[in-house]
Amino acid sequence: MSSFNALPKGVTEADFTKAIKEYRALMGEDRVRTDSASLQSYSKIMCPVSEELHKPSAAMYPKTVKEIQAIVGIANKYKTPLWTISTGKNFGYGSAAPATRGQIVLDLKTMDKIIHVDEELGYCLVEPGVTYYDIQKYIKKHKMNLMISVPSPSAIVGPVGNSLDRGAGYTPYGDHFLFSCGMEVVLANGDVVRTGMGGVPNSTSWQATKWGSGPYVDGIFTQSNYGIVTKMGFWLMKTPPPGGYLPFLMKFPKVEMLPDIIKTIMPLRLSQLIPNACVVVNSLLEAACLCNYDENGKGMSRDTFYKGKGVLPPHVIQQIIEKCNIGAWSFYAAIYGTPEQVALAWKYVSGSFKAKFGNQVEIITEKEAKDDTNFEFRRQMMMGGSSLQEFTYYNWRGGGGSVWFAPVAAARPSESYKQVKIATDVLNKHGFDYLAEYIIGWREMHHIIDLLYDRTQPEETARAYKCYDELLKVFAKNGYGIYRTNPAFMEKAADTFGPEMRKIHHNLKKALDPNNILAPGKSGISLG
Ligand SMILES: Cc1cc2nc3c(=O)[nH]c(=O)nc-3n(C[C@H](O)[C@H](O)[C@H](O)COP(=O)(O)OP(=O)(O)OC[C@H]3O[C@@H](n4cnc5c(N)ncnc54)[C@H](O)[C@@H]3O)c2cc1C
Repeated sequence: MSSFNALPKGVTEADFTKAIKEYRALMGEDRVRTDSASLQSYSKIMCPVSEELHKPSAAMYPKTVKEIQAIVGIANKYKTPLWTISTGKNFGYGSAAPATRGQIVLDLKTMDKIIHVDEELGYCLVEPGVTYYDIQKYIKKHKMNLMISVPSPSAIVGPVGNSLDRGAGYTPYGDHFLFSCGMEVVLANGDVVRTGMGGVPNSTSWQATKWGSGPYVDGIFTQSNYGIVTKMGFWLMKTPPPGGYLPFLMKFPKVEMLPDIIKTIMPLRLSQLIPNACVVVNSLLEAACLCNYDENGKGMSRDTFYKGKGVLPPHVIQQIIEKCNIGAWSFYAAIYGTPEQVALAWKYVSGSFKAKFGNQVEIITEKEAKDDTNFEFRRQMMMGGSSLQEFTYYNWRGGGGSVWFAPVAAARPSESYKQVKIATDVLNKHGFDYLAEYIIGWREMHHIIDLLYDRTQPEETARAYKCYDELLKVFAKNGYGIYRTNPAFMEKAADTFGPEMRKIHHNLKKALDPNNILAPGKSGISLG
């Protein structure tokens, strides 16, 4: 029986004890924790398997790049694996859980400096522990005319972790890795690399251009375990002038309308009349976002409409749509520019939908939305604002289990509905409802499906695992890959992209981290 919470695979208790002693000599006891209470928060995993499989052995809180260099030295000596997180809120994709049991969580929340915000060129350079909210506060304090693209939980998560997992937001800069520029990375051998122009001493364009000279390497540090990112740059959009932002919602009454909705959106997206990563949300996700509990645990939930855990029948879904006054699909997007540009673009955008759908589309702008909480949540987010509104939907089904299944589709009308049908069939077969949204990027749609289950029930958790597993298989069979996943499925997800890609990943790992000390198992990459 070990005196530690868990031990890394292949590391003896004696060696682990020595390693912890050396880590503590470097950073002190406070910043190297092995007690269960300190590790509790890293054990709240968000994938449908036992916490035991992903239990960390320790957590460490470095403050400087030099400390991280020393840490990788000790890790190489004792082969203690390091699972790096930035703000550590990878909700729905595993949270902070390491890919395998016994890894040390390298928690970079203690590196939280905003190094520079450049108002002239619209970019920032930040450390991993900086949250989106920190950047928003900084911009406000310094009265800068800038905004950062955020994911939904932006108040508590940060751009480094989000962009390294290739997350998405809802402004025109919504593809977060695409709008990142320049990284500083500590490699497993202790080298510190600055990518792009950052390699040139005294460069003034590290955050101004993504490309340096020679192969572009930033991508290999995303969704990977080839380095520890200690600084990262992000482009910031200029805030439009007063009257230059027009968020809107369009509600559609029938599920089968989806292909026509996508068909109408895409020309507007490609021409940049709608410039942002916009969303088409299904009825149940929209209803679940409205689900607010008061302090007595009362509020609207799935239970309000249907007793029992079985799949919601279509007539109940229809009742929910009517009671909540939502669409079978809700399309949220925005127009940005000068007031004149916005007015003109709005004529084309609203005109396109009216011409296609006539009185079958309900069009809502700020004027009609009044105090609609879902509209307000989206309005803020499409302008880079913070809110945690969407989190209320954990109360929708109850039991706290949630895992995102997120396949990507080419943004074609036929594919949109095909994916909905495939997902609904598999989810319903396993007793789960279809709750999802499409985030519409440049030419693709991220289909973000929330598999909600009751984590307090072992049978339901096991069923959620089987369901996810089948979703992965069936989508791959239909030619669809997923954009991101949780540790329980990283190995299987990697397999869907073929053996040749796995070989490249493996060879890179051998070259960059021969002792396999950086996050083994991340994206299915490990030498163990
Ligand atoms: C209700 C809800 C809504 C959500 N909405 C969105 C959304 O709109 N868009 C979206 O993208 N996500 C969304 N998420 C998922 C998730 O919460 C966010 O993506 C969040 O930003 C990720 O957590 P983080 O920023 O704390 O990253 P972290 O958890 O810190 O990092 C994510 C991963 O990146 C790697 N990593 C982190 N830091 C480093 C580093 N310094 N060096 C090397 N590797 C590193 C690790 O593998 C880590 O597991 C949502 C989740 C929930 C529950």
